[in-house]
Amino acid sequence: MDVSEFREFGKAVVDHIADYWESLPNRHALPVVKPGDIAKSLPSKAPVKGEHWEEILKDIDSIIQPGLTHWQSPNFHGYFPSGHSFPSIVGELLTAGFGCMAFNWMGSPAGTELEITMMNWLGQALGLPQYFLNCDEGPGGGVIHGSASEAVLVALLAARDKTLNSFINKQNGVRRSNLRENLVAYTSDQANSCIEKAAKIASVTIKQLKTHNCQLRGSTLRDEIFKDKANGFVPCIVIATMGTTGTCACDCLDEIGQICKEENIWFHIDAAYAGSAMICPEYRPFMGGVELSDSINVSPHKWMLVNYDCTATWFRDHRYVIDSIGVKRVYLDDQSSEYGIDYHNWQTPLGRRIRSIKLWFVLRSYGIEGIQRYIRNHVALAKYFEQLVNTDSRFEVCSSCMGLVSFRLKRRNSLTELLLKTIIDDGKYYYTPYKIGNKFVIRFAVCTRITKSEDIKNAWNAIVDYTNTMQWDLNG
Ligand code: PLP
Repeated sequence: MDVSEFREFGKAVVDHIADYWESLPNRHALPVVKPGDIAKSLPSKAPVKGEHWEEILKDIDSIIQPGLTHWQSPNFHGYFPSGHSFPSIVGELLTAGFGCMAFNWMGSPAGTELEITMMNWLGQALGLPQYFLNCDEGPGGGVIHGSASEAVLVALLAARDKTLNSFINKQNGVRRSNLRENLVAYTSDQANSCIEKAAKIASVTIKQLKTHNCQLRGSTLRDEIFKDKANGFVPCIVIATMGTTGTCACDCLDEIGQICKEENIWFHIDAAYAGSAMICPEYRPFMGGVELSDSINVSPHKWMLVNYDCTATWFRDHRYVIDSIGVKRVYLDDQSSEYGIDYHNWQTPLGRRIRSIKLWFVLRSYGIEGIQRYIRNHVALAKYFEQLVNTDSRFEVCSSCMGLVSFRLKRRNSLTELLLKTIIDDGKYYYTPYKIGNKFVIRFAVCTRITKSEDIKNAWNAIVDYTNTMQWDLNG
């Protein structure tokens, strides 16, 4: 493909994306396909001769689009938002167009320096402590990771090695391998699955502590640390959540942070979804205690209009990250050390795209006020849904925070399970399940940029209709 063909192909694809967006309000959230349908429509081998782009694009229409789950449809309310906006798509396109590998400064000076600046812009916009910013004089700093999973893993590795090194320095003769076995990390029983996965990768025992109303309290953490220390365990990190996946609950960050400070334990906050709301000053009280944290991750690719992948992670002292996972090679030495940041040593892969372009485009196109409007609108839409649920005495709201509401039919779990199955089988709407204690609930997340109050009302009316037509034993 030459440049002139690329122009045609690229323009056709932009039109295609625009058409797709115009069609989204009328699309069902789920595709009408059975497992294996898409794979069956594809040839079993790659073509020997190259094909024209028009042929390829036709198959997007006939094979791929019919098999998409429409995360950007206003009828999609599953999981959390998959961040998306036109400036961000264009930023992605440019990143791919430039095709740079910005793993060190020389790999693309603009990549490193734009990222440093964006992490300062974003950190300031979210009201984070100054010590996290690259522009502060201290050893703090921010980086863009691919995902919250990567951010948590990097924080866990840094905390693990910081703890090991400080113990070995204090206790002469103690064997690193023996000490490693005794390390323990803490999180809550509501924490995202990625935290358990990070602990598995890092070979650190993780304790998922019991919550009250889905929140981890300081007293629970304190008791556990006390018991563990008495049994010879060595606490290395507490990973609290601000905005859990299940119900958007916020752990008691100030209580947890205080304990971490007293016990000299690394304190990380996973604010993958709800962290974006800190751009609105009225939500900052949820973040009380952040000034005690050692690291934090917020994912603009969830709730700040930036396409996946873009997780912003800040460290109080990035040198612990470098000590833990940093590597040196002659071929990576680019004489940029005086600039201070070689981002490949802040992440798990070596290669890195310039993700900061899409973040830059979003921050500039929307401005802080535009993003605030977007977040406030989602919260207002969720509140509206909560009010609608409260109008029907057959239902109860089980949790409501930010853009996420969970609800259920009163009485047996099996009724709510049947309701969810009926909705999903129909395919127009999509919701995900959760369990709060032993209550089975349906999570209703406001997900897309184009969701309007009529969509919320229609979704609720459909829930009522599904409920009315379900065959069940009302007396059960
Ligand atoms: N943390 C929380 C609170 C989440 O809700 C999620 C995903 O929904 C994650 C972490 C994992 O995010 P990622 O897919 O960016 O790794």
